[in-house]
Amino acid sequence: MKKKTVRDIDVKGKKVLVRVDFNVPLDVNTKKISDDSRIRAALPTLKYLIDQGSKVILCSHLGRPKGKVVEDMRMAPVAKRLSEILGRHVKSTTDCIGPEIEAEVAELKDSDVILLENLRFYTDEEKNDPGFAKSLARLGEIYVNDAFGTAHRAHASTAGVADYLPAVAGFLMEKEIDYLGGALANPERPFAMIIGGAKVADKIALLENIIRKIDVLVIGGGMANTFLKAQGHDVGSSKVEDDQLEFTSELIEKASAKNVKVLLPVDVEAAEEFTAQANHKTVSIDDVPKGWMVLDIGPKTIKMFSDEIKRCKTIVWNGPMGVFEFPSFAVGTKAIASLVASVNATTIVGGGDTAAAVEAAGVDSMITHISTGGGASLEFLEGKELPGIAVLQDK
Ligand code: AMP
Repeated sequence: MKKKTVRDIDVKGKKVLVRVDFNVPLDVNTKKISDDSRIRAALPTLKYLIDQGSKVILCSHLGRPKGKVVEDMRMAPVAKRLSEILGRHVKSTTDCIGPEIEAEVAELKDSDVILLENLRFYTDEEKNDPGFAKSLARLGEIYVNDAFGTAHRAHASTAGVADYLPAVAGFLMEKEIDYLGGALANPERPFAMIIGGAKVADKIALLENIIRKIDVLVIGGGMANTFLKAQGHDVGSSKVEDDQLEFTSELIEKASAKNVKVLLPVDVEAAEEFTAQANHKTVSIDDVPKGWMVLDIGPKTIKMFSDEIKRCKTIVWNGPMGVFEFPSFAVGTKAIASLVASVNATTIVGGGDTAAAVEAAGVDSMITHISTGGGASLEFLEGKELPGIAVLQDK
């Protein structure tokens, strides 16, 4: 699935419409950008286009304005921050389509950068309305998608616009496809998937796809409880998805038929209630006190998981090992984060909670690739073709 990138098309002096993911978190009180890493993630593509003398027209969504102009969700502060980072003026516009915006774009000189207003001020963006996509396309001569985080959505700016312009990937998109696609297509072995998080139900498609590719499956987090119950263990009052017991048993059988080693917790941190301050203790998986719930993996489990993970050469991790929002139950997730960061392997961390956990552990710089898309990386690992990638030209 090799896709053309900005390197494979002549962008010199051209008007290039770039879909970026500038959906940055804003501080609830000050409304200021609290984390600009999504802006920084787009820099390699932006710098390349600026160097090539392209007229760079950036577009993104921010928040969920649901088709209305919401003052707090305007893109102007993002343009300001990008200007500071790039050391050059980035103009922001008050709309993203229409004759006035076309006129502003027509004024751009080589290497100028402009950021269009929030795409989701129009409902037509998420509806993938062809008229809206065409209006966006009128602003550029080439379309670049560098927004992996929204590539699993078929919106006007992520998919529809490619009907009207030659479409290629930006460098961030290329990196995501190379690492996630590379792990699935051609992993160095042994290949381990570490999976955790709240529910089995959210990860059925991922488990069904990945089990055909991996050598080791490590299961932690809330979802391990359902696997453990299906194996005959009593997990007390832990959240269990009874409707997934059959699925988990079948998955274990499939794994065994394919010689995939499956590791489940052998000891856990059990708590009297679901609170940060809950009374808790480490117990063997067969000694969870009546009425208590499993909120983290235990030390023997961490050791067992670590011994197995250490010998793997490709590791993909999605989902925390426990309720890591509560410090008492973040021990397992932190330990796995440090371990994944320290092994001599290609290590890939899915976005969302797992990326946050790796950052909280301060080891993010030691991971080979942290995906910028939570939902998008999950769908990619499920083996689905993401609409925002499918529309890009093949190499
Ligand atoms: P996910 O979005 O599926 O990756 O799930 C992340 C959520 O799973 C986090 O909010 C964790 O608190 C939660 N979680 C992890 N382990 C457990 C557990 N043992 N019991 C309940 N929730 C858990």
